[in-house]
Amino acid sequence: MSVPMLKLEGLKKSYGAKRALRGLDLEVPDNEIMALLGPTGAGKSSTLLSAAGLLSLEAGKVFLAGRDVTDIDPSGRDVSIVFEGFNLLPVLDVKDNIAFALRSPTYREDEAEIKVRVGRTAELLRISHLLDRDVDTLSGGERQRVAIARALVRRPKMFLLDEPLSALDLKLREGLRAELRQIHRQHRSTMLYATHDYHGAIAIADRLAIIEGGVVQQTGTIDDIIALPANMRVGKLIGSPSMAFFEASISDGSVLIPGGKQRLPIGTFGVVGPAAGRKVLLGAWPEDIEVGPAGAAGANDGSVYAVDNRGFERAVQINSTAGSFRKVVPSELVFKQGDACSFRITSGFLFDGENGSRISHLGGKAR
Ligand code: ADP
Ligand code: MG
Repeated sequence: MSVPMLKLEGLKKSYGAKRALRGLDLEVPDNEIMALLGPTGAGKSSTLLSAAGLLSLEAGKVFLAGRDVTDIDPSGRDVSIVFEGFNLLPVLDVKDNIAFALRSPTYREDEAEIKVRVGRTAELLRISHLLDRDVDTLSGGERQRVAIARALVRRPKMFLLDEPLSALDLKLREGLRAELRQIHRQHRSTMLYATHDYHGAIAIADRLAIIEGGVVQQTGTIDDIIALPANMRVGKLIGSPSMAFFEASISDGSVLIPGGKQRLPIGTFGVVGPAAGRKVLLGAWPEDIEVGPAGAAGANDGSVYAVDNRGFERAVQINSTAGSFRKVVPSELVFKQGDACSFRITSGFLFDGENGSRISHLGGKAR
């Protein structure tokens, strides 16, 4: 494997008593878009600031294209960062905002070159018509484009984007996402894109890094992660709705859930055997749970707790003795709140109920 564009090793950072990064490791391959996906407070911004050299770390190392830049100033790193609350300079117009870094002591480009590059970058982001405007007269979407142009015009090796689209409405978000992918293709730049939005992350990224509690929990393509989620934290952050968890027990070579009628053969999970007396949970993607009418043979009993009409489909919450889950079902399946129903888990994973780690090596299958 070639040298990763960005490599973070054992990053530790606290803000007072609050531990934000707890030994975070991450590698971003060259020429890829990687999404850093995690909930608010997971440590995404701290990770990006560390890569840019804008955070003083307690421990860890930062490498860019194989070079140790841990003690190098932000200006010596050849990375650009777009912040959550876009950092535009209100006293300058759009073109001077975009040109700002190119006039800094680090770049000192000549004015003719600056004009060409600002013009090209503005075209790419479709803001050519805004170049002479003051930034405080722009809409949120326009400001965001200017902020991206500002970072992009430097043609950095590495592009760090901190929730760059989360303040925009859905349509604008989808449009800008497509443009970012286009820019990536043209410039062959490496991007690390922090977001809490699952759909946005899988739409833009080649690969995901799932972050929670200041640690990267798993990296891989969405297909890799669905095929073998590292732990329960990953299951809770992937999918929409996310993974369902049921209490489980193992007896007579089968995995059973309380009150359930299904037996999933333990052999299909590839477990050596969880430690005796440990609590075990069965996790299943909602796509691997079939919901049907009450009393279906070989299925578990459930009840419809909530129905959310999404037009072409319905999102339902099903409760059962073993646990509750949410799933999207076609609107032909007519369910009302309070109805009895059945559900059948076609495959799933076993997790250690105490530390959340996956203890099955395969997705176990129902017979
Ligand atoms: P994210 O971007 O994923 O929301 P952050 O890196 O911003 O996560 O924050 C990680 C943790 O550190 C959170 O618990 C947050 O509250 C805390 N934190 C971040 N910045 C500061 C700060 N300047 N002062 C105190 N706590 C902070
Ligand atoms: Mg953040």
